[in-house]
Amino acid sequence: MKKTKFIFVTGGVLSSLGKGLAAASIGALLKSRGLNVSIQKLDPYLNLDPGTMSPLQHGEVYVTDDGAETDLDLGHYERFLGVPMSRRNTYTAGRIYHNVLNNERQGKYLGGTVQVIPHVTDEIKRAIKSAATSDLDVLMVEIGGTVGDIESLPFIEAIRQLKNDLGKNRCLYIHLTLVPYLKTSGEPKSKPTQHSVKELRSIGIQPDIIMCRSEEALSADMRKKIALFCDVPGDAVFSAIDVRNIYEVPLEYHREGIDDKVAKLLRLKGQAEVGPWERLNARLENPKHEVNIGMVGKYVALSESYKSLHEALTHGGIDAQAKVNIHYIDSEALNSRNLEKHLGGLDGILIPGGFGDRGVEGMLLAAKYAREKKRPFFGICLGMQCLVIEYARNVAGIEGATSEEFNPKAKDKIIYLMTEWVDHRSGRRQKRTADSDLGGTMRLGSYPCHLMPGTLAQKAYKEPEIHERHRHRFEFNNAYLEKMAAAGLKFSGFSPDHTLVEMVELPTKEHPWYLGCQFHPEFQSTPMTPHPLFREFIKAALSHKNNK
Ligand code: GLN
Repeated sequence: MKKTKFIFVTGGVLSSLGKGLAAASIGALLKSRGLNVSIQKLDPYLNLDPGTMSPLQHGEVYVTDDGAETDLDLGHYERFLGVPMSRRNTYTAGRIYHNVLNNERQGKYLGGTVQVIPHVTDEIKRAIKSAATSDLDVLMVEIGGTVGDIESLPFIEAIRQLKNDLGKNRCLYIHLTLVPYLKTSGEPKSKPTQHSVKELRSIGIQPDIIMCRSEEALSADMRKKIALFCDVPGDAVFSAIDVRNIYEVPLEYHREGIDDKVAKLLRLKGQAEVGPWERLNARLENPKHEVNIGMVGKYVALSESYKSLHEALTHGGIDAQAKVNIHYIDSEALNSRNLEKHLGGLDGILIPGGFGDRGVEGMLLAAKYAREKKRPFFGICLGMQCLVIEYARNVAGIEGATSEEFNPKAKDKIIYLMTEWVDHRSGRRQKRTADSDLGGTMRLGSYPCHLMPGTLAQKAYKEPEIHERHRHRFEFNNAYLEKMAAAGLKFSGFSPDHTLVEMVELPTKEHPWYLGCQFHPEFQSTPMTPHPLFREFIKAALSHKNNK
């Protein structure tokens, strides 16, 4: 069994410094040295998972193969490492406390007083170790929040203890801070970093490496000053400068020598192989074409709420060397009079996932517009449901067609609530009852899907069976299958037992590229292996543009 080494990443000064990206990039560099690496995120908030949080607060809810609803940083980890994450890669304080309280109810603490130290910290250490599977060389652990927050204290205390438990040769602490540039005095400032490291040290952690987010590279003097005040060697202070695209971060860190320093301190072998990252960036930086894609959705105000989708669209352009310009279009602002103005100039239209009926009429208009104008169209989850409803209403003559989600009393619920389904992992029949709580009432995680030969879907994947991740309550209602098929809609993907419709499309003689899927393909796209549906969608958009 390997003795996994641990890299703990904390953040200081303020949130949104990009700790997740920093961890993912260091992880990617270590992986390129031939090491087996994974990353875990510990979030200090009390929700059991982010599944019930509004995407406007915390950005996208990312879904893993095993059906965990997680922080969007897990998406970065998968995209940068190319390895699937699981439930073990993410814990919130809520889940930790939940486990502790369950233990207490079961009498596992033998009548003792249950306290933050040692019971909560022990549970955190158990959670960290659970992710350090025996095949791993390195587990990176990102602590959410900012050092000094009351909520994150138990986590920081737990990682402090781990150094004693595991031995100092197996633990490394990286602290990410900010060095702001003050325009008035015309100089970068180290004081926030000093304070943040002081805070960390007051809890007992001396960082091994300090990474400073800054607009420009730190001067030698600045590094020296930070090293002196924060008690680290001069070569352990790095600048993490702002870059043009996120996939440049691993290269930038490598140029800085961060991975070498980490490897030296943890005695890790190998040499980083950054060739693939260089080639990727060369393609991203020198596009030969450009396409304009409209994303018609509800949370368009915050691109963080569609993080994976945004990335998957970018990946989709890599093959064709096309720069993908994404235009966020608020579906609530769309009406039949302004459609041409908002959608006319686009080469492709995408409707992403979403919940509730707000903005749906605008999405239906966009689906109709794309169908009639033969504009490449991609409907994902709610987007597929809109595709189906629009087709039912305007082509199949089912005027009142809608989703049970929007109108539970409607006669023609062409999208309806699934109250029973078989979980293919456990083989168990799952039931949704009226008292189900809000979490975990969805079809979540990876499910197999069979593709019909000769369809756009099958041509894209080039495989008869695929596995894609789900996060939804409602499904296509099979009572309408024959009628819709007779009206010309092609059903191109089904669950293996044929009970669930997973993909629909229009025949290519009717429309160049019009496709919907009930799952979320964006979660599995990585820059090194762009997802086939996004690749084909962007290709279709490009040929629409060239044939205009
Ligand atoms: N609201 C729809 C459902 O629950 C779609 C969900 C989604 O797009 N993720 O089925």
